[in-house]
Amino acid sequence: MGQLIAKLMSIFGNQEHMVIIVGLDNEGKTTILYRFLTNEVVHMCPTIGSNVEEIILPKTCFFMWDIVRPEALSFIWNTYYSNTEFIILVIDSTDRDRLLTTREELYKMLAHEALRDASVLIFANKQDVKDSMRMVGISHFLTLSTIKDHSWHIQGCCALTREGLPAGLQWMESQASAN
Ligand code: GDP
Repeated sequence: MGQLIAKLMSIFGNQEHMVIIVGLDNEGKTTILYRFLTNEVVHMCPTIGSNVEEIILPKTCFFMWDIVRPEALSFIWNTYYSNTEFIILVIDSTDRDRLLTTREELYKMLAHEALRDASVLIFANKQDVKDSMRMVGISHFLTLSTIKDHSWHIQGCCALTREGLPAGLQWMESQASAN
């Protein structure tokens, strides 16, 4: 199906880009994916497997995989890595306890051969919650400034109101058109 979409996109002059949405459970990945598509908040039961959706913009198409898993990040991700151009890492900004796990998994991913050229968009989600960590603190904890071999961008957001989501998508569009 991916190949068919790529072909259709090339006919219409549109470019398809593979995106994986990753993060620990309950960070807001699925909410973000469906907020890209609709103004409704979609309430879902936990999904087994993955959600996949196309986000079609005037000149770009993002083919997004939301990888849903019950436990912490695991090897299953390898299946999705090939052809991935963008990683969207979703962080629950209220969850200080799991940020260390996220940091470890982020650097494991960035070291993966198949993701060598991938750009990384980090959504610091749940910014609506009082006392959530701010972007400066998250950037510092994740030592983002040390990442030199991948393009990256951190964006605060609230998936419930969509605040910050268009700006993140815009950054991906600008990266996609620059490549
Ligand atoms: P996933 O497991 O990472 O896919 O997380 P979900 O998208 O299922 O979201 C987990 C929970 O966080 C749900 O109850 C969402 O309604 C809630 N949630 C997601 N984004 C936000 C946000 O920006 N702010 C708040 N307050 N809650 C959010």
